[in-house]
Amino acid sequence: MSDVNPILSGSAQSIAAYQDAIKQSTQAVVEWLKQPEMYQGKTVEQLRERISLNFTSQGLGNQAAIERAVEYFLKDSLLVHHAQCVAHLHCPSLVISQAAEVLINATNQSMDSWDQSPSATIIEIKLIEWLREQVGYAAGDAGVFTSGGTQSNLMGLMLARDAFFARQGHSIQQDGLTGDLSKIKVFCSESAHFSVQKNMALMGLGYRSVTQVKADAFSRMDLADLKDKLAQAKANGEQVMAIVATAGTTDAGAIDPLADIAALAAEHQIWMHVDAAWGGALLLSEKYRDFLNGLELADSVTLDFHKQFFQTISCGAFLLKDARHYELMRYQAAYLNSDFDEEAGVPNLVSKSLQTTRRFDALKLWMGLEALGKKQYAEIIDNGVTLARDVAEFVKTQPHLELVMEPQLASVLFRFRPQSDDIAFVALLNQRIGDVLLASGSANVGVTEADGVTCLKLTLLNPTVCLEDVKVLLASVKATAEQLLKA
Ligand SMILES: *Cc1c(COP(=O)(O)O)cnc(C)c1O
Repeated sequence: MSDVNPILSGSAQSIAAYQDAIKQSTQAVVEWLKQPEMYQGKTVEQLRERISLNFTSQGLGNQAAIERAVEYFLKDSLLVHHAQCVAHLHCPSLVISQAAEVLINATNQSMDSWDQSPSATIIEIKLIEWLREQVGYAAGDAGVFTSGGTQSNLMGLMLARDAFFARQGHSIQQDGLTGDLSKIKVFCSESAHFSVQKNMALMGLGYRSVTQVKADAFSRMDLADLKDKLAQAKANGEQVMAIVATAGTTDAGAIDPLADIAALAAEHQIWMHVDAAWGGALLLSEKYRDFLNGLELADSVTLDFHKQFFQTISCGAFLLKDARHYELMRYQAAYLNSDFDEEAGVPNLVSKSLQTTRRFDALKLWMGLEALGKKQYAEIIDNGVTLARDVAEFVKTQPHLELVMEPQLASVLFRFRPQSDDIAFVALLNQRIGDVLLASGSANVGVTEADGVTCLKLTLLNPTVCLEDVKVLLASVKATAEQLLKA
């Protein structure tokens, strides 16, 4: 094999090898797409047994390596586009996103400096400018593409922390954390994403720095409790460095009262970050855009495009209202963003990102917007929200099912209700229903908790899924439950 050049280049031999490898891979994908089963239903043990690395002295060659990936990876992958694959905020992807990946991967541009990604840097900046406009921010380019919501939330919390200390004349960047850190708090609702906790731990402030505000019956941040807890914090001598509001909680799809929270944050001079990883999709909605009113008041915003924007993983963004805050994380590396470059107006995105080497994921959204246009993008986003409402109405008509909460975005929380008031028994039964459905390979239904009791969740992102498909799924939930009850 060693006389074969493995690198992608313009040589005739490399181009032929590239075309062969891509053709073989896409043909395998086409077969996989047609697979009827959502999942071939192998257990953890079976997959561990089956899968092993074959790193040989001479190498297997591209063809054999691809064949092995098809056999050991592709065949036992979850069909994310399958109508019964509705467990998570995990979307089927746009065809155009696949085409974008081909371009992104083959060109292998890196977004850290302009000389590694000239046209890509300009496209990303223009897309950030466009996203800011959608949010309702002033014109500008403060923001960056990220690996997803977790990283965008980290950027929001980090800049909030650093701005908080900067107001007291202290540079976190230069001197690190200081003072009585046990007094520093971040507020979010008890339904906020766990990355708030994880990020606060990462930032040296720990889980204990997170004050959880109560959620109301619809999983939205309870304003009265927010006011109480702000007053309590003040009385305790605590300082609140940020309030994280959520636009689209992971389970219920709840959107916190953004404008009211913003007013309180402004009154107390607290940074407001909005985690719109899921609900941000409504920026493109025709019917539900007003759910996001108040988003423009946030100091920073998290958006995720690998959720209800239907882009392949990874694709997210972070937007910063006031560009001056970016100074708090500026780092100059002579070889990436030198003084000379900055004076000459060369944009090096490394100074806006936590990452250095970074994928050109912005191209996926760019091409998606151009390919689908406003009307179709709105349709595929609105479809899920409308479908969730229809499914909820149907669930209400089913005597053995209990609707846990009226849907707000594209998810439906419900339970199978046997004739039993034993909550532990109901919880276990619903957990087992989810497990059995996945093990059988027929469906992937979310299993989560509402008010501390296990329930099932349908996350209806897929715009090709209709009410009839969901009825089929609910029938298998029922059949599975009855089997389990018999056994
Ligand atoms: C998915 C999600 C996140 C995490 O985003 P990743 O892209 O998975 O890192 C954060 N917040 C909310 C509300 C989410 O739904």
